[in-house]
This record gives sequence, structure tokens and C-alpha cells, in this order.
Amino acid sequence: MTRTMDQSANLYQEACQLFPGGVNSPVRAFKSVGGQPVFVKRAEGAYFWDEDDHRYIDYIGSWGPAIVGHTHPDVIAALKSALDQGLSFGAPCRLESQLAKLIRELMPNLEMMRFVSSGTEACMSALRTARGFTGRDKIIKFNGCYHGHADMLLVQAGSGVATLGIPGSPGVPKGATEDTLVAEFNDLSGVKSLMQSHGREVAAIIVEPIAGNANFIRPVPGFLEGLRALCDEFGALLIFDEVMTGFRVGLSGVQGLYQVKPDLTTLGKVIGGGMPIGAYGGRRDVMEQVAPAGPVYQAGTLSGNPIAVTCGLTTLDLLKNKYNFTDLADRTNRLAFGLKERAADSGIKLSVDAEGGMFGFSFTDTRISNFSEAKAADISAFNRFFHSMLHQGIYLAPSAFEAGFVSMQHSDADIDATLAAAETAFQELAK
Ligand code: PLP
Repeated sequence: MTRTMDQSANLYQEACQLFPGGVNSPVRAFKSVGGQPVFVKRAEGAYFWDEDDHRYIDYIGSWGPAIVGHTHPDVIAALKSALDQGLSFGAPCRLESQLAKLIRELMPNLEMMRFVSSGTEACMSALRTARGFTGRDKIIKFNGCYHGHADMLLVQAGSGVATLGIPGSPGVPKGATEDTLVAEFNDLSGVKSLMQSHGREVAAIIVEPIAGNANFIRPVPGFLEGLRALCDEFGALLIFDEVMTGFRVGLSGVQGLYQVKPDLTTLGKVIGGGMPIGAYGGRRDVMEQVAPAGPVYQAGTLSGNPIAVTCGLTTLDLLKNKYNFTDLADRTNRLAFGLKERAADSGIKLSVDAEGGMFGFSFTDTRISNFSEAKAADISAFNRFFHSMLHQGIYLAPSAFEAGFVSMQHSDADIDATLAAAETAFQELAK
């Protein structure tokens, strides 16, 4: 089954003259799965259409933000009326506090927060705040976790970086990562020994509490609790990067699901509903260190932009008041475990997991608990599966190391159609 994609191919050729690799963010380029990217013309609900007018069931949702579906009518109506009031003020406005109050209601650990324009900025700024608060320089991150592309964090940083086969990145000076220590996800004893050697110099441990940039890796029982205890013992801050998982795995994030309290949290994606925004926040005494309340400098021309805030506010309001995470989780689970069953029918072993509207699958028979295990799965099988699904109108993340996303608009019929396509794809793979 092959779709012709002439328009996408032409546009890609043109884009390659304009943008490095033809894209404005690396994983979009299909480098790890091979082939050429699909150029999107428009999106609505659970679908998008490419420039050749093929429809796809979309399991990326703009890499997470589109949880209420693309171009939700309530979101578009709110945006249209916000546009009439002005695009950007560079001065405080009422909407910022409305969004902050809603976030705090759903995630009470964010006693105080600051809006920025991306998840990268949120993580970078949270770490600066932690360093300023503790007076320490070192940070601990985990192999396979991605926290944006700030220099200090581009060390064993998961999907995008791994997909390109670059261990870190040229252009990052040695000095920038000197204070970045790396541990294995789910290996509490490894973190313990790092803390025993460096604990009093560690400002923060930053973690994706469910790792979504290394496929979908759940914390083993006691891992997050153990990180909390180590931070308490050594006076370091615990930062949950919930840029991906926030309002995606449930209404209160991983911190709500697992009942572990971070000192700081970073957010992005869903809180902007598709417009550029990020946030970092947490303990009031820590956040009061941020300028102008405190000495830790951080600023942004478009931070708290009224259009982005309106989009996020309407999205979160829909999640809280109109939609139901249990239904979303049911559909996501039916998809993930349905994939596993269809694979088994063709004699293919698949490891799957899901939470809320986020899922992952990997061509291996063992449950993945860290990035090294994710990399050991059959990546070439994933790549062939990806292309078969693409040509049947199912758009999955073009990398074996990325999580997938289901929206409130994906219907049972969409899930059935996806599973039917998967059956064909697995049969092709098994030939
Ligand atoms: N943190 C996590 C967990 C992410 O998944 C991402 C992006 O995918 C980021 C941070 C960076 O966010 P942004 O791409 O908005 O800069």
C-alpha cells in the first residue's frame, strides 16, 4: 500500500534549501525512520490532511499539546475573541492569573509559577532557580530524558538527540556540561552513589517522571519516592519535568498519579493547547528567588502572551469541565494493548504501556525500564511498521524513541481503524 506524496516531496525539496534538513525541529525530518516528511495542510479533531490531500489519524497531536483535538471549536472561538483585544501587551494581564490559578488548582504543588515561551526555557530556568536557591552548581539528569536543548542538558538526552546518533551536540562547550551528572532511569542505587559522592554540591535532580523521550518508561515502584528522599537527605531540589506528561497522563500529572511531591515542576505543551508557552513553578520560598521578587534573573518579551494563555486556558478548562480522562485512558489502553494483541497474532513480540492519553510501544518482549533497553529493541521493525502505518493513513511519531498521544477527539472507530491498519502492517512485517 503506497500513497503518492508529490506535493510533500516538492515542498521538502524547497524546504531543504531554506532550513537545515528541511525542518524547524530535527525529529520531524524522518531521519531515523527514513523517507521524507509529510507536509501538513490542515488539521481538525483527531486528523490532519497532507498537501496531497490524504487524511491521517494523528497520534502526535503536535507532540502532545493537541489533547482536545485540533482546532477545537471552543478554543478557536476563544482565540478569535482574544485576537480582537490585542496580540501582545508586554505588560501584565488578567488572563495570566486565570491560567496560573487553574494550573495551581489542578497541580497544587505549583504554589507560585512563571510563564515562559517553551519547555526548553522552563527547564533551563527551573535549574537556574534551583542553583540560585541552593547556592550549588551540580545537577543530576537521567539517560534518555530530554529537557529541551539548553547546553547543560544536552547530555544523553533521549529521542531527538539519539535519533540523530549524536551523544550530545557539537557546539556545547565542555564547561557547560561539567556540572551535569547522568544516572540511569529507574536505577536508584546509581543515584544514591552519585549523591554519596557529590550530594552536597547537587542543586537539583531533574527527571521526566514518566520518560516520554525514550519511548514510554514508567518509574518502577519506589524510584520517584527514592529520589524525593535523597533530595531531602542532601538538601537538593527535586524537579519533575512534566512538559510532556502534564495534563496528558491525567489532570494532575505524574505527581498526582504517584503522589510524589517535587519542589519544582516544568510544564509546556498542553498548557498552551498548541500555542508556544511553558511554565516553571513550585515551592513559594524557591520561586520567590526569581526576579523581580528575588535575585535569580529570568525574563521574556512574549512570556504570558495573551493569545497563548487564552489557548491554554480554554484547553485546560475543557479538560477539567467537559472531557473525561477515564474515557481517554480507556481508548488509549485499547489502542496500546490492541497493538500488542495484533502483533502477537503475527508472531511479533511487542512491549506496550499507556497512561491517560499517552502511550508507547516497542518491538521487544521485555518491559522497558531504561533508555538502554529501549535502544536494544528492534528499531528496524519499528521503522518498517511506521511506514506501513503512514501509507495506511496512520501518523505515528517518526522515531522508535517517542511516545504517542491520543486526544479527546479520537473515537472508538478511529482506534478500530488504527488496529485494522496495524494488523496489516504486522502481517507485512512477519512475511
Ligand atoms: N521537556 C520535555 C519532557 C519535553 O518532551 C520537551 C519537548 O519535547 C521539552 C522539555 C522541551 O520543550 P520545547 O520543545 O517546548 O522547548
